[in-house]
Amino acid sequence: MFGGLKEKLAAARVRLGTSIYGAAASPAPPAPGLPASETVPLTTPNKSISSSSPTFVDKIKVLIIDRELIISETDITGALSDLEMILLESDVALPVCDAIISHVRKSLVGKRRKIGESVDAIVTGALKSALLVVLGTGFNLVEYIQTHDRPVKILFTGVNGTGKTTTVAKIGVYLKKLGYTVVIGAGDTYRAGAIEQISVHAGRIGIKIIQHQEGADPSAVLFDTVQFAVSHKIDVVLADTAGRFHTKSNLMSQLEKIKRVMKPDLVIYIDEAIAGNDAVVRAAEFDKTVGADAVILTKADMDSRGGAAISIAHTIGKPLMFLGTGQGYDDIVPFEPTQVVEDLLGSES
Ligand code: GDP
Repeated sequence: MFGGLKEKLAAARVRLGTSIYGAAASPAPPAPGLPASETVPLTTPNKSISSSSPTFVDKIKVLIIDRELIISETDITGALSDLEMILLESDVALPVCDAIISHVRKSLVGKRRKIGESVDAIVTGALKSALLVVLGTGFNLVEYIQTHDRPVKILFTGVNGTGKTTTVAKIGVYLKKLGYTVVIGAGDTYRAGAIEQISVHAGRIGIKIIQHQEGADPSAVLFDTVQFAVSHKIDVVLADTAGRFHTKSNLMSQLEKIKRVMKPDLVIYIDEAIAGNDAVVRAAEFDKTVGADAVILTKADMDSRGGAAISIAHTIGKPLMFLGTGQGYDDIVPFEPTQVVEDLLGSES
């Protein structure tokens, strides 16, 4: 994912750099009267000023190299509106876009820069810190499990078709590989075929599943799952639930009951990255009505824009925990903001 955004951000970086000081972002122009090859490289000031009695040209070079620039608002206004367009085109939610722009503006305006300093490093640093602010800190599930009483009970909910069932199975595989014991509760009793679907996954990945018949009370299924986990000293309960009912109040009352009965430690909302801003809006609505501790975005492999992944944590104030990256059981990666920023912007130069 992020391929398109990565390219666009690279262009925005150059644009910001050139708007701060065009000449410094590209190779320095030759000093008057000197061929280009004799220009002083900007990153190595003073190196070529070797003579004990500097010539007039040398003095000019020193003056250019050591002059400080102060970045002004007007220097970067155009480049910032380009950046805004890039973010909006990439499906980044408007308030998140505003937060990024305002952070970049704050870091750059008024900053003193010596000509010898790399403009790209300044611009990249500003973009990186802005993205880190909006991406938040992420959520380390393994660390959470390590520091909480067993069984850790995790309730998953989300819109059907987004990859909820597959994600529950993927997390089961992920935790099993780390040595944890897991049980799955087939709490999506509402949708025809959902129990069958999750039990097929459970069979394939070798994880015990607790299930009742279709239409059963999900609270009862999940209560039984927790009982099973307690009596068998299982580390983690993965509770699948329906993400949608006929009405919002129906969904809320069902989830309220499930919460009362199974007392989940974590409620996780699952949606698909390809839904872009719709996923951000739905997650916010879900968090407002039911409450979520973290979000998982599936199908990140099919999403080149990356807007939902960038926007979700900042918009709802809840961390993004994992990204689904394919249809296989191993196709899930913990969401690590610093890694994402590194991938997007590379290292400072
Ligand atoms: P549910 O109805 O929400 O439980 O959705 P499913 O788990 O049945 O998944 C719906 C479809 O999305 C299936 O074909 C999955 O293989 C596919 N899917 C799930 N997660 C991902 C993902 O991260 N990437 C891709 N490309 N497909 C996924």
